[in-house]
Amino acid sequence: MLQGKTALVTGSTSGIGLGIAKSLAKQGANIVLNGFGDAEGPKAEIAALGVKVAYHGADMSKASEIEAMMKFAADTFGRVDILVNNAGIQHVAKIEDFPVERWDAIIAINLTSAFHATRLALPAMKASNWGRIINVASIHGLVGSAEKSAYVAAKHGVVGLTKVTALENATTGVTCNAICPGWVLTPLVQKQVDAKAAAMGLSNEEAKKVLLQEKEPSMQFTTPEELGDLAVFFCSPAGNNVRGVAWNMDGGWTAQ
Ligand code: NAD
Repeated sequence: MLQGKTALVTGSTSGIGLGIAKSLAKQGANIVLNGFGDAEGPKAEIAALGVKVAYHGADMSKASEIEAMMKFAADTFGRVDILVNNAGIQHVAKIEDFPVERWDAIIAINLTSAFHATRLALPAMKASNWGRIINVASIHGLVGSAEKSAYVAAKHGVVGLTKVTALENATTGVTCNAICPGWVLTPLVQKQVDAKAAAMGLSNEEAKKVLLQEKEPSMQFTTPEELGDLAVFFCSPAGNNVRGVAWNMDGGWTAQ
């Protein structure tokens, strides 16, 4: 379905980003990966799906590096047709104890990077009258949780940016939507499981149950593959007029 298209997924060396990149590659899209850590493993996984893959290591907290990444993608594949703003980090602390440097980093990586990548991707998408911008927000783009001030603020911002991007392009073939996952068992969440296990003297399995029990009625983690399938839906013809939604996959978290 996506043969001949190019998808750039930020923060795709692990977790949800890598899952979405694989789902888009399975539909035939060429992929630009981004993120820290090992890139060779993820590159090989994508190449094995029979598409072209490239990697750029831009730090998403830096506008100049995002500009270099977008130029690299255009130079390598012609243009970016699908932009997935996914890179994100977390820090958990009460507001009065929240390190200022962590606040700045979370706002830069989780929110401002999406603005930069979007503003740089839009001109080529509009010129071809087809584009998909998919923002990986969070259930924390819709509701709050204690001790996550920067993350919740950034993700609510991402949902707002999604709506404005959708509206500004509503008469074009460019759509913008957000995905709002509940718990997904990635390295980002494993750190929170580890913290709970340490604080409560629990095993890894017990700590996972406690985490799910607090918020997620299904008692199940959403998987990167399920989120990837939602991204594919947004890219399908059925998604042509789906504009500005914040679509939760949260095991019932926000139905409560
Ligand atoms: P993860 O830690 O597995 O992956 C994060 C990715 O972002 C990695 O590839 C990492 O290298 C990259 N990254 C981090 N800082 C970066 C920077 N400065 N520049 C470039 N890349 C950077 O985490 P994940 O759980 O897969 O999270 C992906 C997205 O999904 C995040 O935006 C997160 O907020 C969101 N999310 C996660 C969950 C969850 O339960 N895991 C739930 C809702 C939303």
